[in-house]
Amino acid sequence: MSFEKLGIEPRILDILKKAGFEKPTLIQKECIPLIKEGKDVIAQSETGSGKTLAFAIPIIEKVEHGKGVQALVVTPTRELANQIMKEFVKLTDYRMAEVASVYGGVPIESQIQALKTASIVVGTPGRLLDHLERRTINLSHVKYLVLDEADRMLDMGFIDDVERIIRHTSRQRQTMLFSATMPGPVFRISQRYMEKPVSIETERHVKPELLHQIYYDVQENEKFSLFVHLLQHEKPKLALVFCGRRHTADAVAKNLQIQGIDAKVIHGGLEQNKRERIIGETHAGQVQVLIATDVASRGLDIKGITHVFNYDVPEKRDDYIHRVGRTARAGKSGLAITILSDGDYDNFRRILRENPEMNIVAGERPDFRRIPFNPHAGRERREGHQGQRYGQRSSGYGRGGHEGHRGGSHGGYRSPSGHSRSESRGRRY
Ligand code: AMP
Repeated sequence: MSFEKLGIEPRILDILKKAGFEKPTLIQKECIPLIKEGKDVIAQSETGSGKTLAFAIPIIEKVEHGKGVQALVVTPTRELANQIMKEFVKLTDYRMAEVASVYGGVPIESQIQALKTASIVVGTPGRLLDHLERRTINLSHVKYLVLDEADRMLDMGFIDDVERIIRHTSRQRQTMLFSATMPGPVFRISQRYMEKPVSIETERHVKPELLHQIYYDVQENEKFSLFVHLLQHEKPKLALVFCGRRHTADAVAKNLQIQGIDAKVIHGGLEQNKRERIIGETHAGQVQVLIATDVASRGLDIKGITHVFNYDVPEKRDDYIHRVGRTARAGKSGLAITILSDGDYDNFRRILRENPEMNIVAGERPDFRRIPFNPHAGRERREGHQGQRYGQRSSGYGRGGHEGHRGGSHGGYRSPSGHSRSESRGRRY
């Protein structure tokens, strides 16, 4: 099906064509006609599905200029707010001044200015409430409300804030809720604030046959050494490495750098402009290893992730699914590697129990060189003394090279049934 068949305005069709978008994604096919009809929509969708344009196209067509804020997109993180704003701006290049994004961590004054003329606002709950309290935003004319990544917003403790924001919007609004999963609180929001919503469930973006999942079970003090070994052998084009905590993310990045491996880190403790710079560098293909916390990476649309590493195991099954789903997209295969030690067993067992269909195979323990890991390294970064030392680029994966590495063995994978797949039988990754 073509975009033309969805009855989209010619001006927007032109922009889509110029952006190289030939046909609508599944979620766009499903959502655009319903939203155009004025229906409330609940879409179970993930980043990468094309969900932003699914709501942005009909909204752009509907808002009228100079009539106050008519469309509001509430989103959990600043990065996502920025990303969505950019998609809107792409569609409205001739009306650029009309889209405002509001989120914390940056000065409020320029946002106040932008809000004076905006007809579409994309924002995070905290800063939106701040503007409401200052009376620098008026949501009473909002006719189109989008709750994006609703499950994450609720996970992050924004449920009361989101409800307060919803109550500031017009009762005659159309509400669209996008969420990868539908936990109880999201369902409750839909019941309370939506009018006969139509539910749309698109196929999972990640194709199980393209996503290969492996885990390695090692001692806690071996995690970093194995991780470095795997990086050196996998040579990922772009690896996204998840750590549950900010200080672990900082420490892993810093220790990698000590090994001569260039890694960038992104988490909520960094200044906004730094986060944006790192995301920009990643989009530009200048980053090979990006270490992230779940919250900071949520919703970020980063293309070409060849490897996902779980440096630790998340508590929640949904977080595991979100993490590994960042690779094996757009028809490409991807590898998700989980490194387990004592502290991860409970979480991992729960994930396996709740996802019996997931095929996570045991990786055969390779020989790897022991490397010291300083858990306190990187702490000074958060205190602002980081300077330029961090993130220098190295030419390859580690100045240690293959030093101390015995026989080039990477190890193979053993499925739970005990069958071993070794290098000699050919690796596909
Ligand atoms: P989203 O799921 O909204 O985060 O979008 C994921 C990515 O897909 C974004 O980089 C979009 O620019 C891109 N995209 C959205 N719609 C299409 C389409 N119809 N064809 C190709 N790419 C698209």
